[in-house]
Amino acid sequence: MLDTRLVIILILFIMIDNQHLINLDNAALQSLKLPEFLVKDLKIDILRLDKIHPVISGNKWFKLKYYLQDARKKQFNTVLTFGGAWSNHIIATAYISKCFNFHAIGVIRGERPLKLSYTLLDAIDHGMTLEFINRGLYSRKNDDSFKKILEEKFGHVYFIPEGGAGIPGIKGSREILNVTETEGYSHIMCCIGTGTMYAGLVNSSLPEQEVIGIPVLKGIKFFPEQITEPPQKKDNCKIIYDYHFGGYAKKTGELIQFMNNFYLQTGIPTDFVYTGKLIFALSDLVSKNYFPAGSKILAIHSGGLQGNGSLPEGTLLF
Ligand SMILES: *Cc1c(COP(=O)(O)O)cnc(C)c1O
Repeated sequence: MLDTRLVIILILFIMIDNQHLINLDNAALQSLKLPEFLVKDLKIDILRLDKIHPVISGNKWFKLKYYLQDARKKQFNTVLTFGGAWSNHIIATAYISKCFNFHAIGVIRGERPLKLSYTLLDAIDHGMTLEFINRGLYSRKNDDSFKKILEEKFGHVYFIPEGGAGIPGIKGSREILNVTETEGYSHIMCCIGTGTMYAGLVNSSLPEQEVIGIPVLKGIKFFPEQITEPPQKKDNCKIIYDYHFGGYAKKTGELIQFMNNFYLQTGIPTDFVYTGKLIFALSDLVSKNYFPAGSKILAIHSGGLQGNGSLPEGTLLF
C-alpha cells in the first residue's frame, strides 16, 4: 500500500521535474548591433533557442514534444526514429526519451563505423539503442514494408519520422514564436531542413510578417510536397534557395570564415550545417539591400551546435 503511494509520488515528482527540463527563459533575444545593419536602419535580433538546454537544443524540443505526448497517450514504451551519425534529431530524441521514461531506438543511416561519432556515443550514453542500416534500405525509411521489418525486430514501437517531420512537429514549432514578444517584427527568418519548423513559423506568424526560409539542402523544392500539412495560405512566405553551400552538411572555407567572424563580432556560435548558413544568408541579403530601411528582423537560432563536433579540431574558434 505504502509502496504504491510512494511510486505515485515519485512519478508525480518526475513529471513536475520534467516541466523544468527546458528553460525557455534562456532563449533570450540578442540584438545585433553591427554597424552594417545600423547604417541601413535595420533592427536584427536573434532568438537564441540554442540556449534552452545543453542537449535538446534549438527547435528539437518544439518538434518532438507532441510526438512524445502522442506516444504516451497511445501507451507506447518505445519510440523509434531515424538519422545520420551527427544528427541533432537523434541526440535530442535520445535525451528527451530518457527524461520521459521511453526506451529509444535510433536507426542510423549507413554501416556501423569502427569509430562512432560523439553524437552516437552520447546517444548510447542516454540509453538509446542504435541500429545501423545500409543506405539503400535506409532510403525506404518511410515505407510500411521497412517499418514492418523494424517492428519484427523491436516489437511495438512508436515511429517518429526523420527530423520530426510531420504534423506534431509543425504543431510544436508554432510555439516558437510564443517564446518571446514577436509581434513587432516585419521579417522572421529560419533555416530549412525538412521544413517542419518553417511550416510552424508560417502558421503562427502574423499575416503581415514575411517568413523567409533558407534551405540547407541542395535541389529540393519545398511545399507542398515536403510537408504533410500545408501552411495556412499566406502570401508572404518566401524560400531563398541560394545558401546551401553545395548541399546538406557541405561547407566552404568562406562559410567557416564567416562563422568565425560572426562569433568574434557577436559572441554567437553557429553550426555549419544549419544556422551558419542562415546567418550568412541574413548578412548577404542585408548587403544586397533585400530588406527595406526600418525592417525589424527576427532570425531563429535553431541550435544544433553539437554537429560541429564532426569538424577537424581547430576549424572553429568556439
Ligand atoms: C534539425 C534542425 C533544423 C531543421 O529543422 P526542420 O524543421 O527539419 O526544417 C534546423 N536547424 C537546426 C539547428 C537543426 O538541428
